[in-house]
Amino acid sequence: MLVNYFGKYMINTQEIKEKLKLISQYNTENASFFNNTFKNAIEYLFQPAQLDACYLIDEIPNNLNSETIVIYFDNMNEKSKVDSYVNELSKTIKKFIIVGNHRNRIITNKIICVNIKSILNIVNYVRGNEKIQFGFHINAINYEKYYYDRMNVFFLNALNALYHFPMEDLENDVEKVCTDILLDRNNFQSHYFIDDAKIELKKMLVLYYKILKKIGKERLQNEFMFYHIEGELSDMNIAMLNSISELIYVYHLEENEKILSYVYDNISRQMLEEAKKLNYCNFLNNTCVGMRYTDNSFPNSEENGCCNNTYKDKGKNCRYMKDDHSCSISSISCRVFTCQYLQNRGIDHSLWQYPLIDCVFKKLARTKIIYDFFTPKEVMMKKLKHGII
Ligand code: SF4
Ligand code: SF4
Repeated sequence: MLVNYFGKYMINTQEIKEKLKLISQYNTENASFFNNTFKNAIEYLFQPAQLDACYLIDEIPNNLNSETIVIYFDNMNEKSKVDSYVNELSKTIKKFIIVGNHRNRIITNKIICVNIKSILNIVNYVRGNEKIQFGFHINAINYEKYYYDRMNVFFLNALNALYHFPMEDLENDVEKVCTDILLDRNNFQSHYFIDDAKIELKKMLVLYYKILKKIGKERLQNEFMFYHIEGELSDMNIAMLNSISELIYVYHLEENEKILSYVYDNISRQMLEEAKKLNYCNFLNNTCVGMRYTDNSFPNSEENGCCNNTYKDKGKNCRYMKDDHSCSISSISCRVFTCQYLQNRGIDHSLWQYPLIDCVFKKLARTKIIYDFFTPKEVMMKKLKHGII
């Protein structure tokens, strides 16, 4: 498998196969962690993305007309010229508004550039019968902070470190090398580059949502957004398109309750799937990895996991645990939780790195999600009611 390392290097995981094979012969603490979680992470976190963006299309909609205003997210610096794509499209429509980090300026009588901060003022004047169509240029949107989330960054750095570690050092002391890599705080440092000229995905989507609320769904020419890209779609592009599409779907749910419910269920499901696929708690003989190597009073069986002896239910199972040992309330906060032992080894979730959370909730609401353990969905939804952007 080829792993793209911050868009700069390609690591062929086959080439480190020998190192992984050597590590797999050891049952020491961090070598085992490598064998279990690390191997799963390579397969799970770096799998090729599948395009599933039904709220987006990659071509200009064919029903645009002289009553359509296109709001198009792109960046036009002082020198960049309007490309033939925009020119062609602007012929059939009423106005083409290019929204980005550029300054406000008029290009032609149909094409204007508007700074992202001014677009809401402009929309105030669009009160006629015009229909609004949204579109965006993929290359102008910044998605890096979501694509290279905390876990992804850690595993990429650790994978890269293993790749470059001399085979002789590994052969001398496998456990030491694994420990050095896994506990190296530098591996939490991101090395991706963010181009300031690009529009933050969140800014684009929040504006989309605000404009949608202002004008109403019926003023949209089409429910979907169109997008434009030159060349091939990369894995990051695909992940970005999937996120944008999902968020447009969420914003179209309109009622806060429906939005909250969707986000809650999806993040809970995603966290559960991740825990299962990565198998980071790695129970052996009924003890989890955290229990095996620390003195803390961690949970005491595979069936109960961290749901035993909680601060609300001392010395017994959590009140929300069902007979089959699953969680009856799908607590989002519990799902996001990982213990310090795992956090030190890169299994850590920062909620703002999930577009579904970052582009729907205000910052304060995210704190509630992290800390309100053992809280049923209905209660959490009430708490988050005023937390939508
Ligand atoms: S999260 Fe809980 S079950 Fe998993 S390793 Fe840590 S203490 Fe053990
Ligand atoms: S609420 Fe939390 S601790 Fe209780 S069963 Fe559910 S996941 Fe476990």
